Amino acid sequence: MTEPNQPTEQAAQDAAPLRVAVIGAGPAGIYASDLLIRNEEREVHVDLFEQMPAPFGLIRYGVAPDHPRIKGIVKSLHKVLDKPRLRLLGNIEVGKDIHVDELREYYDAIVFSTGAVRDRELNIPGADLPESYGAADFVGFYDGNPRFDRDWDLSAKSVAVIGVGNVGLDVARILAKTGEELKVTEIPDNVYESLKDNQATEVHVFGRRGPAQAKFTPQELKELDHSDTINVVVDPEDIDYDAASEEARRNSKSQDLVCQILEQYAIREPKDAPHTLQIHLFESPVEILEKDGHVVGLRTERTELDGNGGVNGTGKFTDWPVQAVYRAVGYRSEGVPGVPFDEGSAVIPNDGGHVLTEAGAETLPGLYATGWIKRGPIGLIGNTKSDAKQTTDMLIADAVAGKLAPRKHEGEDAIIELLTERGIAYTTWEGWYRLDAEERSLGEAEGRERKKIVDWEEMVKHAREVPVCI
Ligand SMILES: Cc1cc2nc3c(=O)[nH]c(=O)nc-3n(C[C@H](O)[C@H](O)[C@H](O)COP(=O)(O)OP(=O)(O)OC[C@H]3O[C@@H](n4cnc5c(N)ncnc54)[C@H](O)[C@@H]3O)c2cc1C
Repeated sequence: MTEPNQPTEQAAQDAAPLRVAVIGAGPAGIYASDLLIRNEEREVHVDLFEQMPAPFGLIRYGVAPDHPRIKGIVKSLHKVLDKPRLRLLGNIEVGKDIHVDELREYYDAIVFSTGAVRDRELNIPGADLPESYGAADFVGFYDGNPRFDRDWDLSAKSVAVIGVGNVGLDVARILAKTGEELKVTEIPDNVYESLKDNQATEVHVFGRRGPAQAKFTPQELKELDHSDTINVVVDPEDIDYDAASEEARRNSKSQDLVCQILEQYAIREPKDAPHTLQIHLFESPVEILEKDGHVVGLRTERTELDGNGGVNGTGKFTDWPVQAVYRAVGYRSEGVPGVPFDEGSAVIPNDGGHVLTEAGAETLPGLYATGWIKRGPIGLIGNTKSDAKQTTDMLIADAVAGKLAPRKHEGEDAIIELLTERGIAYTTWEGWYRLDAEERSLGEAEGRERKKIVDWEEMVKHAREVPVCI
């Protein structure tokens, strides 16, 4: 006899198709959607909700404009979004335009892939001065995210970037390049206008630990040197290793390469270039210095290795005269109303896929998480793929085991009726094709691949040019 909630395999195959809502059309959400519609256990139909009028998350609004190869990942994501049984519903903020409890009535399961878009805080004196900027805000500006400031003060001649990860490198590189070098990219006009007047000739990047602890990836670090306008400098004094650092190099080819590249920067002849980008290691930022309410410097404390790969302060302080500071100390996710959120680790509490009521506690049936909102804002786009597999395997196993509470509303039009009733100007995958074509034609006119449209209403207008059919 079959136990209730334990359908046989045949029954599972015969069961009505599952309807799943995936929240967030960044790489994690798109990979998860793909795995769901391709799984062989149950037929799944996915609605992919996205708050922005356009999909692709941080590939569109995080990856630097001078990284066209990485931005090109959208080509493979296009193939996913072209597939039947997957529907994009953009310009809808879940938690605001539609509540999670409402969505549960339309879907058998919900996967959260809401990523991260804001800066983690840096608690040092002066961090709230007007010229102390969060890296995420600057990224949002230069990558044309309509949710961020559209004007940027680039009058500082010397700037500091705090943080030795790839985001720090992106910010430093964009600040050190000329506007002309960036004009060939997809940057919008207002960004080019600001960058062409950028006064920065010295960009200083600071990290509190050493080469073996830097979070750069080798390719990004090496690529800094590809610009003729940037002289990359590392002080030979900043190259130091203890036993734990040597072990870190032995255990990671990538970390070893980072160390080798930093060593090469430290020993080579300086390049004749108008802009200097210096990477300072073993300098821990302790205060952003102020005069008359404006940034005039950054104070750092020299550190030294403690034998275990950590560092101790030496009590030796240096004041670096800079007029702007960019804090690239990591991104931070935000919660979605109606879903648990762990403020400490800034993720949705989960056991590798299932959403939990709180860390280590019970699962909430039918709710799942993947990507940066699941494991924190670390890792490359490729990492979100394996992440999505783990989550979607759990979801499908739960569906086959009959652990999902069935939805109340049938039919794929039910949710569209609700959105229309609410007057939500949702965008679709067909709409993205129209917006994409418009951005490409704007770019083509200037001999570049694309020029981004920034204005929210304009994006929606292009995406909805032909009225969306219900
Ligand atoms: C500045 C920067 C540069 C990077 N450069 C690279 C690089 O060169 N190469 C590389 O491999 N990786 C890079 N990364 C990392 C890469 O972007 C991430 O690994 C990846 O984007 C994480 O994917 P995700 O889908 O979890 O999150 P995201 O990309 O953040 O996508 C989340 C999506 O959810 C949407 N969303 C959020 N809340 C809601 C809501 N309430 N309702 C509806 N939608 C919502 C967001 O709008 C967004 O589209 C970079 C990251 C940053 C920050």
